[in-house]
Amino acid sequence: MDLSALVACLFGSLYGSFLNVVIWRLPREESVVTPRSRCPRCGKPIAWRDNLPVLSWILLRGRGRCCRKPISVRYPFVEAAAALLAGGLWLKWGETPVFAGASIAACGVLLAVALIDWDTFLIPDELSIGLALVGLLFSPLNPYFDAGPFGGWWQAPWWSMRGALLGFGLGWAVAAGGEAMFKKEAFGGGDVKLLAGIGAWTGVTGAFDALMLGSLLGSVYGLWLLRAGKARRSDAIPFGPFLAAGGVFNFFQLLPLGWPFN
Ligand SMILES: [Zn+2]
Repeated sequence: MDLSALVACLFGSLYGSFLNVVIWRLPREESVVTPRSRCPRCGKPIAWRDNLPVLSWILLRGRGRCCRKPISVRYPFVEAAAALLAGGLWLKWGETPVFAGASIAACGVLLAVALIDWDTFLIPDELSIGLALVGLLFSPLNPYFDAGPFGGWWQAPWWSMRGALLGFGLGWAVAAGGEAMFKKEAFGGGDVKLLAGIGAWTGVTGAFDALMLGSLLGSVYGLWLLRAGKARRSDAIPFGPFLAAGGVFNFFQLLPLGWPFN
């Protein structure tokens, strides 16, 4: 195993620790910078040694040192997921280190989007529109938009912008179609903006692939809920987590580029 990938995992786990703060505070419109981390149960500040990603949760057996109340397993889960994503993305994109770092940041945003949407049925614009803008900014370094030696400087930003716009259009069409068919909002405005963000990083085909994969995952989950008797047909399920999973999948380029068009 590559030592640099382990370092990426370590950074990823610290990033995951920050994402936990974002997931909690952003929907509550609190600052993600100050104050320092607090116990989610009693609100006391947490010492750095009790805030080590994954490790502290295990050492404290899932309880706060302050109040001994249980701390959700989601905290170490987010930290571990961010660590694995960072390690995997580093292995995938390490030859272009700046883009590797940018893709780690972007997939972390998708992870935060997934959990915020899961909790609140909302996707904050800061994350979806932020993803689109930063994707545009990093497009010249993005291997997805590599125009080759004869491409102009404008090609990568143009492809990124086109990915965002068509992702937005595709999402909008699905939202309008879904509303006409089911007479309720199945695919909301937050999902549309998220698809634009995914398109800015992985192009038109990336947005399309994320939508297909997200729909597949969402349907499997919905059918499972129905069969297990955990939900009725009229219950809404958030779409963002599945779309975000499709977007993260894209960053690993596991499907041939442009699937299923090429
Ligand atoms: Zn506490």
